[in-house]
Amino acid sequence: MDILPCPDCGIRIFPESCFCANGHAVAFDARARGLVPAQGPLCANRASLGCSWTAPEEGALCLSCATTTVVPDLSAPGAQELYAATEAAKRWVFNGLMRLGWFVSDAPELPEFHLMSEKIEGRRQVVMMGHADGLITLNIMEADPATAIRRKQEFDEPIRSMIGHVRHEVAHFLHDRLGREQPGFLPAFRQLMGDERADYGDALEAYYDSGPGPGWPETHISAYASAHPHEDWAETAAHAMHLEDLAQSAEELGLSLNGGDRLDQAQMAGIGLNHMCRALGQPDPYPMVISPAVRQKLDFALGWLDRRAG
Ligand SMILES: [Zn+2]
Ligand SMILES: [Zn+2]
Repeated sequence: MDILPCPDCGIRIFPESCFCANGHAVAFDARARGLVPAQGPLCANRASLGCSWTAPEEGALCLSCATTTVVPDLSAPGAQELYAATEAAKRWVFNGLMRLGWFVSDAPELPEFHLMSEKIEGRRQVVMMGHADGLITLNIMEADPATAIRRKQEFDEPIRSMIGHVRHEVAHFLHDRLGREQPGFLPAFRQLMGDERADYGDALEAYYDSGPGPGWPETHISAYASAHPHEDWAETAAHAMHLEDLAQSAEELGLSLNGGDRLDQAQMAGIGLNHMCRALGQPDPYPMVISPAVRQKLDFALGWLDRRAG
């Protein structure tokens, strides 16, 4: 994530902040990629959800909040905070992708989000997170810290997070777009990750019945990635977004990462992060080992995700 100067005093802050440390009210103009004084039109979710982004006109939502067409039931205690955290994760993911050249046209083609909660006052409902034809469903309970810790262990997904869920589902959306817009994408994708036209329902059923193959860590970024080529792409592309953001964050902090390409730098940053957390007696935040075959898939994903080279 970029760290940007406050337009009033110049101290550097996250674009997610509504105020700098000196108390200046700021807003983030995502398309111009800069902080501006909070005087122009601001996102209508600024007061209720803490959204720092500017809006196209007074009373409107920002580019990111406007993609949410179903807002969650807020009757359960804490639901408002989980809703705010989910919108913050969406903004973080959109911001990173805009930096890579996505969603920056005058009328960007964006996914649509339905935000649901598995916990509604007095009862629970099943919320299936997923992507279908540009519509993404998210369960805001995944933003609850206690739930996240439980599910990290339950599903053996050490870096499970709401930002990870958003990146995974948006990756499915981007796969559709790349398939439609870039003639070279699908043939290259099929060669590397398999044919996504294979029956999805059958593949997922087989995965949930018998689990991943024993050799999956050599070939896939996660067990779930081995379920179907679509999931291999979504898991791999989401991880490529994680690593790109990690490398970018290290660069913003002025850390020296001993050369290499973007993914080498990200891995170096991950190792450094683990090292620093051990100093505080905390678990490794990036306990991942990347095999050569998975590295090749990450290179492929990042190559297609980064549109800045033209
Ligand atoms: Zn300031
Ligand atoms: Zn907003």
